[in-house]
Amino acid sequence: MRSWSWSLVVACALSVAAWSASALVAQAPAPGACRHCQDRGVVPCSKHGKAWALEQPDQDVAFCSAVVECKACLGTLHVDCKQCQPAGGADDLAHRQQLAQQWLQERRKTIDALTAREPHQHLRTSHYDLAFTLKPATVGTEKLDSHARMHLYGKRLEALRSAFLTTLELPDGDLPERMLVCMSEDARDHAVLGPRLTGMGSPNSVSLKLMGPTYVFSMHPERKSLPDDEAVHRNLVHNVTHLLLTQMKPALYLGNRKHGWIDEGVAHWFEDKLVGKCTNYCYEEVALLAGEGFKGGKWRPAIRRLVDAGDVVTFAALVQKQTDELKFSEHAFAFAYVDFLLAKAGGAKFRDLLRLVKSGTATRDALTQATGLNLLTIDGVFSTWVKANYSLQPPR
Ligand SMILES: [Zn+2]
Ligand SMILES: [Zn+2]
Ligand SMILES: [Zn+2]
Ligand SMILES: [Zn+2]
Repeated sequence: MRSWSWSLVVACALSVAAWSASALVAQAPAPGACRHCQDRGVVPCSKHGKAWALEQPDQDVAFCSAVVECKACLGTLHVDCKQCQPAGGADDLAHRQQLAQQWLQERRKTIDALTAREPHQHLRTSHYDLAFTLKPATVGTEKLDSHARMHLYGKRLEALRSAFLTTLELPDGDLPERMLVCMSEDARDHAVLGPRLTGMGSPNSVSLKLMGPTYVFSMHPERKSLPDDEAVHRNLVHNVTHLLLTQMKPALYLGNRKHGWIDEGVAHWFEDKLVGKCTNYCYEEVALLAGEGFKGGKWRPAIRRLVDAGDVVTFAALVQKQTDELKFSEHAFAFAYVDFLLAKAGGAKFRDLLRLVKSGTATRDALTQATGLNLLTIDGVFSTWVKANYSLQPPR
């Protein structure tokens, strides 16, 4: 007798990882059971070496192309037990293999066929489809091969989505379920994938976003502006935050409706929160000045200095601008006003403000309705808050 049912797990097309976990739960073998597989009929595939840990359920992996391409298990992480030659087990494994192979074939058709160069690695997590050709990199002190680095980006993308939901106290259903992210080492791949998948932009740009109805982000790590893994991570966080903000119900892109301060401020805020500083600007001419930026990306001490000097960009002035009209210092003030509102009013009230402006409420009314602040008094409260909370010294 098999002690667990394949059909239960097969019902969920994406539960390869969950399935492998349940297969590995140790159980005492029944009398006469196969000692090799504890009567499960399958044993873990031995071909994955160090990468085995990356593919486990706690790593949020539904499918990984490296596993699907494994000649021994064909994407299931398990092979038939050779000791007890189970009847029926082979069919179930074959079904899992088929789902995995179908997934990879569909990815090859959707992504790889467009570039027709080296095959991409692909990863499917709970909320992202990631196509990846970035080369090995040192992250912190650890050297990661390309495959491990792809898994790291899968986790980073999921971490950003979680942080977005938590910060704004949003229900999961306020964000669409999936997003496609393409990270290409070679500029030529991005030059093809970016415009083909997002249907917009110049092939020369570093990153391209598609803001709905389906959500796609494509980038390549242009060496001057994104010299290391940390810079690539910040670029990803900044741009995917734009997509999450746009997706958040009611779905609307804010950057061209005089809400540039929200559009950029929120993207900067998550850059700072997750990767320590702000170095990405959505303004072509600013982006082209590779390596340039505002005060090394550490904006709190810079804002404190400006506030001390009385050199403040007023809220009323800021809320007149589109994303592509913001100057460097206005990007920093956009960040600081978002930081201030999140701290002073809290995530739920800032979320309410976002929902109101997305629904067409004027900024002055949304501000008062959601937070109780108003256009005339906010600058004073903001300056006092900055003096109390922003040190003149960078945190590290
Ligand atoms: Zn066995
Ligand atoms: Zn993998
Ligand atoms: Zn395998
Ligand atoms: Zn931006």
